[in-house]
Parts: sequence; C-alpha cells; structure tokens
Amino acid sequence: MAAVEGVLFDIDGVLVTSWQPLAGAAEALATVRDRGIARAFLTNTTSRTRAEIAAALRDCGMAVDADEIVTAAALTAEHLRSVHQGERCLLINHGDIAGDMTGVEFDAERPEVVVLGGAGPEFDHAALSRVVELMLDGVPVVAMQGGLTWATAEGIRIDTGAYLPGLEAAGNARITVVGKPSPTGFLAAAGLMGTPPERTVMIGDDLQNDVLAAQRAGFVGVLVRTGKFRQSVLEAAETAPGHVLDSVADLPGLLAELRD
Ligand SMILES: [Mg+2]
Repeated sequence: MAAVEGVLFDIDGVLVTSWQPLAGAAEALATVRDRGIARAFLTNTTSRTRAEIAAALRDCGMAVDADEIVTAAALTAEHLRSVHQGERCLLINHGDIAGDMTGVEFDAERPEVVVLGGAGPEFDHAALSRVVELMLDGVPVVAMQGGLTWATAEGIRIDTGAYLPGLEAAGNARITVVGKPSPTGFLAAAGLMGTPPERTVMIGDDLQNDVLAAQRAGFVGVLVRTGKFRQSVLEAAETAPGHVLDSVADLPGLLAELRD
C-alpha cells in the first residue's frame, strides 16, 4: 500500500490504562510526529473533557494538545447543535464533561432529548427505567458512543453499548450512536488531520469498535494486544483486522514496513 499519511490513535488501552502510560507509547507518538505523519486521537472516553485528557496524557510524558483530540462528547454536542438545536437535554453520564458540550441546554425535569454518555453508577435501574418511559413517549435518545467494554487496572467494565439493545427493545425505538463505532467520529478525525481514510491508520484495542468499524469507514485498521484485547474475540471475528501488533510500541516498525 501507499505510505501512511496519518495515524488516528485510540487512547484508553492503547496509550494508557487507568491513565497510566503503556510502555513505548510516548516513543511511538514522538516517532509519528518526527516522521511528519499527521496524527489525531479519537476516544469514547466521556469522563473527561478534551483539555483534561490532553493534560492527563502530558502527565504520562505524551505531548498532546487538546485540539488534536476528538471525543464522543464533543461529537455529540455537535450532533445536538445540528439535529436537536435548542432542545432541553437529559444527560446520563459518568463524569463532568459540560466543558465539551457548549451550547447544549440541560434540563433533567422536562427533556426533549435524552443523551447517554459513558456507563457508570449513573446507569441504574431508576435512571434507565425513566429513559425507557421517555422513549415510549417519543423522546429521542442519542448515545455518545456504543462501546461494549473498557479495561481498567482492576478489570473489564461494561460500557454504554451493552445497554443499548435492551433499551431499544423495551423503549420500542432506535437509539442514535454518535461516537465509535459510528463512522462519524472516524471521518471527523480524518478531516481534522486532512488525510484520506485509505492512507490513515486507526490503531485501537477494541476489535469491533476501533478497528473493524474504522475499516468499514475506509481506514487501515491496526489492532493492539493491550487494554481490552482478548485472543478469543479476535479468533471469533468474521473479519480480520488489517494488522495486529503486540502493542503501540511496534507501530513505528509497521509504519516503516508500509512505507517500503
Ligand atoms: Mg480503547
């Protein structure tokens, strides 16, 4: 293939786990920059704003600016501004991300649209029952992302995507997903880098949400064996990732190979 012009990094499970750096991540980021390859970061993290994520990465020795980061929350705010402009929003989310959602009016009492952010203790029986009640009353629901799990230092946690099929069945309506695995975020990030998807690598630890979803959007998919990676998930997949690396530390080698 032609040389890679851009790399789109998933953050959690690729560069950090529980906001601790993974070995070789800082060096891989620096190599991409030094070779003149464009880069951006696409994350379903909904517990921190872009500025907070950039600061956390800098604390891990990775020089990243907030404007290189595309978050599910920022994409969702853009979606709300265009599709649900001025509508009162009920937000159910783990973490304070209001800083990435300027122009959105929050109203938990009389919502006209429901937004599901990242899963956590906020996704309890009462809150999700209310979402279903609102769905049955015709209130649209937007999910910031459709990830099934994320990995923490203590183990796997289930994420928003694990709730969506049940809510759709009980609420008798479809839920719009904005972040990964929807193509919206991948294409927005490629736009940010100014690189065509077919010359852009998406590197992630989630086979379905990062890698195969990016491949469907035209990107070169690279799966890493860190974070939430499970060999059994890879073996059961109906589509193969473009490339599989032990970790992001092997990315510079792969980019050199693809260039030759
Ligand atoms: Mg990840």
